[in-house]
Amino acid sequence: MLEGYKKKRDFTKTREPEPQLPSSDKDDPIFVIQEHHARNLHYDLRLEIDGVLKSWAVPKEPPTETGVKRLAIETEDHPISYADFEGSIPEGQYGAGEVRIWDRGKFAPEKITDKEILFRLDGKKMKGEFVLIKTRFGKGNGWLFFKKK
Ligand code: MN
Repeated sequence: MLEGYKKKRDFTKTREPEPQLPSSDKDDPIFVIQEHHARNLHYDLRLEIDGVLKSWAVPKEPPTETGVKRLAIETEDHPISYADFEGSIPEGQYGAGEVRIWDRGKFAPEKITDKEILFRLDGKKMKGEFVLIKTRFGKGNGWLFFKKK
């Protein structure tokens, strides 16, 4: 599941974590949102599902309130250890730019299908029930991300 992640990175050049065996605490899944100052600023939403961080790039600030719908582009799975990563990805490397943790906390999945994920987040900024739902926008990897009423 992490082949895409490994292929895109040269771990002799970036300080991003090299994938390890999953070391997740199954009783306490987590989420993280990383503010990523790459060519275009975006927010990387990552949810711990099946021993990896399922990942989406959100081009605008994530929906902390109801009534805000964001496009979220599905990206490659990341290792769980990536949740702690903050720092600089060097010029010339994939995703070059600064990464900062924007929010993190507990992730409680309620329903997971290929087309829809319902879940609760308990972070500092992201609190409550959220939805990711596949959309026809984007190149087959587009989802809508919003907070439930
Ligand atoms: Mn990113």
